[in-house]
Amino acid sequence: MGQTNFYVNPCPTCGRRLEIAARHLGHPVECPHCTSRFLAGQGMSDERTSAVEQALLRADQYLATLAELQEVAADWERGQSVSD
Ligand SMILES: [Zn+2]
Repeated sequence: MGQTNFYVNPCPTCGRRLEIAARHLGHPVECPHCTSRFLAGQGMSDERTSAVEQALLRADQYLATLAELQEVAADWERGQSVSD
């Protein structure tokens, strides 16, 4: 049913352009030219995009840490007022 979508994914080892079926994205595939294994979908986004994604990921982690610290501080303040 339906047609298969193919993505062009350069091999990270030999740099050849491989056509990879969409269903293999995120799965390990083997390059038929150099037989190296890599995760399909890697290297498809340009470096700028992945840098932005990494920055967003770091920001998310930073905000999560901040929220955690605020929770700890709130708990500490509650603890202080109870012990008074
Ligand atoms: Zn290759």
